Amino acid sequence: MTDRVAERQMQFLYTLRSRGVTDARTLTAMEKIDRGVFIRGLFAERAYEDTPLPINCGQTISQPSIVGLMTQALEVQPRDKVLEVGTGSGYQAAVLSQLARRVYTIERHPRLVREAREIFTALDLTNITTIAGDGSHGLPDQAPFDRILVTAAAEDPPGPLLAQLKINGIMVLPVGQSDNVQSLIRVRRTETGLEYDELRPVRFVPLIEGLAQD
Ligand code: SAH
Repeated sequence: MTDRVAERQMQFLYTLRSRGVTDARTLTAMEKIDRGVFIRGLFAERAYEDTPLPINCGQTISQPSIVGLMTQALEVQPRDKVLEVGTGSGYQAAVLSQLARRVYTIERHPRLVREAREIFTALDLTNITTIAGDGSHGLPDQAPFDRILVTAAAEDPPGPLLAQLKINGIMVLPVGQSDNVQSLIRVRRTETGLEYDELRPVRFVPLIEGLAQD
């Protein structure tokens, strides 16, 4: 590692910690996965800033500290089967792949699916399965899941996703109207029902039904 890369890496991790990402496993995963690989073109040089950035198909790669906070709130265990809705750039799925047994990630834009798959192959992240489809219905074939992470905002937690969560499972997702401030919430399925926790205000692109044309 060159001095410049080491310095950049230290600054990146320092910023994550100062914004509340304190879980050691999450920080190690984010240290291993280079965000720069997931951003193409003009914005690549800003990959290590704590800011969301545009990706293809009019979507965004989330802010690193939000990726970290969502990941640690999910409390992923090494044997877990995780579902992510909204692959986008693939960055969040790659971070999860370091913590879970298997990650299924669904994206409605086929182009983003193709691009993310290429990166996962190049990085040899063999425990990620990337699917083109509408994630608001979850992934019935592979359900139930230990953990579900949604990276696009719905007004309410989608029923099919709640139904695909195991007992003791955790789902983290933004809810609220897309143009307003949304809330990041954590839902835990217990033996007797669902427990909700509100974590913080966030702003995500909307969860949209149906497969996109591109
Ligand atoms: N996790 C991503 C952030 C992506 S932004 C990352 O790490 O880069 C949210 C993504 O959710 C967008 O790419 C958008 O196309 C996708 N999305 C929105 N609604 C969806 C749906 N119903 N099913 C699957 N993906 C969806």
